[in-house]
Amino acid sequence: MRVLILGSGGREHALAWAVKRSERVKEVLCAPGNGGIAQIARCVPVDLKDLDAMVRVADVERPDLTIVGPELPLSLGIVDALQKRGMRVFGPTRAAAMLETSKGFAKRFLQRHNIPTANYAVCTTADELDKAVDIFHAPIVVKADGLAAGKGVIICPSRQTALEAAHSLFSGKLLGESAQQIILEEFLEGEEISFLCLADGKNIAPLAPAQDHKCIGEGDTGPNTGGMGVYSTDTLLDAGMQEWILRHIAEPTVEGTPFVGVLYIGLMMTARGPQVLEFNARFGDPETQAILLRLESDLVEAIEAAIDGQLDKTELRWMPGASACVVASSAGYPGSYETGFPISGLSSAAEVPGVQIFHSGTSSLGGQIVTSGGRVLGVAATGPSLEDALARAYQAMAEIHFEGIYYRGDIGHRALKKNR
Ligand code: AMP
Repeated sequence: MRVLILGSGGREHALAWAVKRSERVKEVLCAPGNGGIAQIARCVPVDLKDLDAMVRVADVERPDLTIVGPELPLSLGIVDALQKRGMRVFGPTRAAAMLETSKGFAKRFLQRHNIPTANYAVCTTADELDKAVDIFHAPIVVKADGLAAGKGVIICPSRQTALEAAHSLFSGKLLGESAQQIILEEFLEGEEISFLCLADGKNIAPLAPAQDHKCIGEGDTGPNTGGMGVYSTDTLLDAGMQEWILRHIAEPTVEGTPFVGVLYIGLMMTARGPQVLEFNARFGDPETQAILLRLESDLVEAIEAAIDGQLDKTELRWMPGASACVVASSAGYPGSYETGFPISGLSSAAEVPGVQIFHSGTSSLGGQIVTSGGRVLGVAATGPSLEDALARAYQAMAEIHFEGIYYRGDIGHRALKKNR
């Protein structure tokens, strides 16, 4: 079969890599892809903000299966549009993707289904905001309702700063676009875990758990990014806790929506148990790079089972041990940065045992791979232990050079501290 992947980042590179390993797959296409993806898939240009353009690519290429990577095409209704044309596509409908695209919708859904989450208030006017803020104790978390690429969450040390942040989200000063709804939320403390699962609307196949590192600086300091590194081990969640999360969080969400696709549950493991921080309606980036590296089963077979409502007959097999993915970014990211710098050392890095390099922001210029984004590469590795996986990823990273390369040297620090 021929599989089309929509997207252009490290997540899509990892998806293309995993899909290509399937015996069922003859050709992998990616739209638009990037410099690294082009080495293993045929890339077709497309604008991911343009629904008609994406539908035209599917019409021309006629893939047997389309997998949607990022949230933007989901929010535009790509799944509905392709399904209407009788095509097989993996991802939630526009309505189901609202679990990610509207935080207000997600919070009301969680409350309606008695799923544990932080106390909150949804406000649509400045008046509502002024009244609601009184019931919260500082720190207060202020969130814009819609998709904001990780920039719509502000943790405020006092009621006054929360009001200021909320007003600048309403006015558009903070995000460039004025928020229609704002969510005030109780601040939760604990360890964050990304729990992803494949869902067929009824049944669930959990993926290996992962922990992301959102801040740019070591020791989790500085501004938030799309994710600077991630690791996956079985010890992140014990079997009993995983079962609890499946029963009390994942199942009611998947059945209540109903949700077909990848449900990404962002959890805070608090003293009063796991609480949902957010839902994403797709594979995470960079979680996918670390998770798929550990997947021994056929990803395409599992995705097909999800589309057909047959996930109850699927059990995913995982490589024991651990995996990690360290992200290399351009100097200046997550602020402004320059691009177009040649990248060297990719082949010697790829020779380190257990290592896979996934490209996030690269392009190919006359055969030379150059930087083209803020996050440039994810160097991922597996190993019998987290220490081994990280050692391999950092050994490979040391081979790679481009002007201004930056990466965190402390990926996995929480788990390593516990292991000691
Ligand atoms: P979200 O997009 O809602 O997941 O928020 C992005 C990040 O903000 C999360 O990964 C958390 O680190 C942080 N965050 C969001 N909500 C809360 C909360 N209620 N308490 C503490 N931290 C939060």
